[in-house]
Formats: sequence, structure tokens, C-alpha cells
Amino acid sequence: MKALFVKTPGDDPELDLRDVETPVPGHGEALVKVSSAGVCSHDVAIMRGLLRRGVDLDVILGHEISGIVDAVGSEVEGIAVGDAVVSTLTVFCGECDRCLSGHEYRCRTGHGLGHGVNGGFAEYIVLPERCLIPLPEGVSVEQASIVACPMGVALQALKDVARVRPGETVLVTGAGGGLGIHALQIAAALGAQVMGATYSEDKLTLLERFAPGQVILGGELDFSELVLAFTEDQGADVVIDTVGSAVFYSALRSLGQFGRMVLLGEVEGGRVSFNLTEVIFRDAAIRGSSGASKAHITQVLDLILDGKLEPVISHRVPLSDAKDAYHLVRDRESIGRVVLVP
Ligand SMILES: [Zn+2]
Ligand SMILES: [Zn+2]
Repeated sequence: MKALFVKTPGDDPELDLRDVETPVPGHGEALVKVSSAGVCSHDVAIMRGLLRRGVDLDVILGHEISGIVDAVGSEVEGIAVGDAVVSTLTVFCGECDRCLSGHEYRCRTGHGLGHGVNGGFAEYIVLPERCLIPLPEGVSVEQASIVACPMGVALQALKDVARVRPGETVLVTGAGGGLGIHALQIAAALGAQVMGATYSEDKLTLLERFAPGQVILGGELDFSELVLAFTEDQGADVVIDTVGSAVFYSALRSLGQFGRMVLLGEVEGGRVSFNLTEVIFRDAAIRGSSGASKAHITQVLDLILDGKLEPVISHRVPLSDAKDAYHLVRDRESIGRVVLVP
């Protein structure tokens, strides 16, 4: 089968589509023919060489994977050949304390797909049955590739980490990105008043659909002034930051009293330093969040079926043109997700 490897990371990375042996499903495993694989900023950071620690370039990238079951090993009972499935983000044990408490994406012996074990930028992938979720009718196999990350990741951040309540104000930074555009919709589905900040003027029209009248063009400006204007000087109850250090100060100044800021991404690999009183006197919380559990994936599928959440995929790129996908994501030219099609 064909699989994508990063030969030389860098701003202009050398990517290599190589023939490797198609894996064979063992006990309790299934072989999935990959239909679609989302390109995450995490993959782009590895291609770019921004992320090097613990990165093995012999591992196939891609953790946002959907496809059709092509073969099953022994003792596979819940799925069958021909089923459309989405994968979890991690190959997990299902037995440790974290798995049993619904945090299987942080399994103590788990391996992140596309990081610790081969991911989905390939024609096929073998996964344990417990890592595959069959798709309900009404969700396409292409849409499913982005159901765990970024959609499930956004759901966890809003619902379980920020604990957004109906009527609260939520600001999403990087609102045109894969995490951002789905976070906007999920926040609205949770009953929040949503605001989105974006750097890209050409994304405004589409974003207006998800946050009518409340989309802020960030540019070089400090967008907190506009957030304060939108919230009658109260600031946002919740800030979902998908950009990181590049907008940190604006994001922090946008946060209201008792506000919760959830950090979901660090695009530039930068640093911040700030006066701690900004957090203390706001009685604020700043938390990180990553990953999504099987329960989040199922909840996202339900939100799509209920018409409350629309998966946004702007570009479909053949695996052989992965470099184009890299540029689209790096240069923020996409809206929502770019997916690779093997
Ligand atoms: Zn991702
Ligand atoms: Zn575990």
C-alpha cells in the first residue's frame, strides 16, 4: 500500500509517498481502508519541524481517520467487512484507570495514532476493534474523519473543561480553523452566545453563518476591545483559544470575571509571559485540553444527526499531493478542515 512519510521536516518539508506492506489484522483487530484523513495542525507542526520531541519519522502521520472495514481478524464481533467506521485518536488498553474513567485518549499504555503507532495518511490501517466506532446512517464517511479531532476535541473543551452554561458568552479564537469553526457551532448548541475572532477577511462570510453579527476580524488588532464592546464591558465568560501564544494577550484581556480560558492549540510554538494578577483578580482559570473520548465522538455524531453541528471540510486533497494540503493548513487558507484522500 501507499503511505506518506516525512523525509525531511522543515518549512518546505520533503514528503515521501512510499510503498509499504499492507498490515494484516490480528486477534481482535480490523483492517480499515482509509477513506479520508484530516490534516491537523499537529501533523503540520511535525512536517514543519516545530515538533521534534518524541517524534519518530518512520511512523505514518494522521490521527483523524475514517474508512471502510476491509478485513477482520479472529474474535471480532462488533464490526464487519463493509462497515463505515471512525477511529479513536489513541490505541488504548481499555483496562487502566484512565480508560475506565472515560479518558482512554490518555491511556497509561496508549499510543497516539500518527505519533506512537502508524496513522491514517495511508491506504490502509489496522486497529483494534475497540478503537473503531461504526457510523450511523446520516453521517458520511468523509465527514466522519473529523468527528474525533477536531470536533470531539472542541466538544470536550467546551462541555467538560469550560463547562459552558446556557446564556454564557463564549469567544473562540482562530474561528475559521478546524477546531474554531466547530467550537463556534458546539458553543451555540450548548446555548451560549458565541463570538469568533479570525485573522482572515475571506472567512468572515462563512463564519457569520455560525456566529451572526459576532465575528471579529483580529488582524494585528487587539480584539479584546471588540469583545468588551460586544459584552457591555463584561468580557467573555469562556475563551476557547485555538491559536495560542500569538493571540494570548488579547485572549486574556477578553476574559471576564470568573472567566475560564481553555487552551487547545499552539500554532507558532511561541512563549508568553504575563502578570499573574491578570488571572488572580479575574478569579479566572486557564486550563489546557486535548483529545476526545469515545463518548465525545458518539455525542458529536448525535449533534450532527440532530442538525446542530455541520462538519466543515474545505479541501479534499489526494494523498499524493499532500504537500498542497500542508501549504493550505500552514498558510491558513482553508476553512475548517483539509482532508487527505488516499
Ligand atoms: Zn487533530
Ligand atoms: Zn488504558
